[in-house]
Amino acid sequence: MTRRCGGATYITGMRPQDILLPAAAGLCCKPGGFHIDPVRPVERAVITHGHSDHARAGHGAVLATQETLDMMRLRYGENFAGSTQAISYGEEIRLGDVTVKFHPAGHVLGSAQIAVTCKDTCIVASGDYKDAFDPTCTSFELVPCDVFITEATFGLPVFRHGDASDEVKKLLASVALFPERAHLVGAYSLGKAQRVIKLLRNAGYDAPIYLHGAMEKITEYYQSRGIDLGELRPVLGMKKAALAGTITLAPPSATSDVWTRRFPDPVTAFASGWMRVRARARQRGIELPLVVSDHADWDGLTATIAATGAGEIWVTHGQEDALVHWCKSQGLRAQPLDLVGYGDEEESETPLQDEAEA
Ligand SMILES: [Zn+2]
Ligand SMILES: [Zn+2]
Repeated sequence: MTRRCGGATYITGMRPQDILLPAAAGLCCKPGGFHIDPVRPVERAVITHGHSDHARAGHGAVLATQETLDMMRLRYGENFAGSTQAISYGEEIRLGDVTVKFHPAGHVLGSAQIAVTCKDTCIVASGDYKDAFDPTCTSFELVPCDVFITEATFGLPVFRHGDASDEVKKLLASVALFPERAHLVGAYSLGKAQRVIKLLRNAGYDAPIYLHGAMEKITEYYQSRGIDLGELRPVLGMKKAALAGTITLAPPSATSDVWTRRFPDPVTAFASGWMRVRARARQRGIELPLVVSDHADWDGLTATIAATGAGEIWVTHGQEDALVHWCKSQGLRAQPLDLVGYGDEEESETPLQDEAEA
């Protein structure tokens, strides 16, 4: 007897926790013999995307999209894993007693949700995801499933991100208003920076955009994958006066240190979902907060959860409690997943180059 994906009963008797279970190294799939986004070295890793807390070095074998593998190679060097295998969106691979299939997560270039199917039970580990428009990566795909594992970085009703294009227009309005000042935009190096640049281009801004040294490699990689970001220049070596009226992208940590002295009277901006919280912007001395997030907001999380048709939701990576509560109020089974070791990339920063630019 077969059943469709998305139903509520497990006719085969396969319990979801027999397929995927939290372990010290990360989410473990025993019947498949692999871990998803392991935080410790394992024999076989299946990886959702290139952010450093999800994609670590030292695994025996790594299965991921080509872009994720390339990003790991950029960060860790050629020998970051014993062996690698690239998988495309929509491709299905048999691992042990399960099949895995990758679907776009809309988070950053190459990011994937991983559907793990065993007998008739389908679990989707979505990694980090967003359902909002992002011209630098493939759009989020809704995958019907029995169990949906969701992140909860912005899992509180106060988080409503709005339209990122409008935030970029605020930046351009400020540049027009203060032609004698430099604009310094803090943005996470992998994903956020390239998205902000692309949104600036889409808004018609065609002047050169300057980059902090820690962003050059990954941004060049995006361009090598066919994402046209217009003319980009290293900010290193630029004369202070020549930076008046320009826009520079830098890792968030750089926008609050002595590095900023090379800019004429800089307007400090920060592109992050956390900029919805005004106290956070004030705390960091951000003059121009830009609410641009690579994670789903509250509406995105709840709409996605409902649309998957999953009867059971596992919540991880952020504000689990409120989202678990919401799921239960909708009649869904829900629980927080105890996974440790995942950072908050909206706040922290692990540059691809270790040396900070002087
Ligand atoms: Zn991420
Ligand atoms: Zn993450």
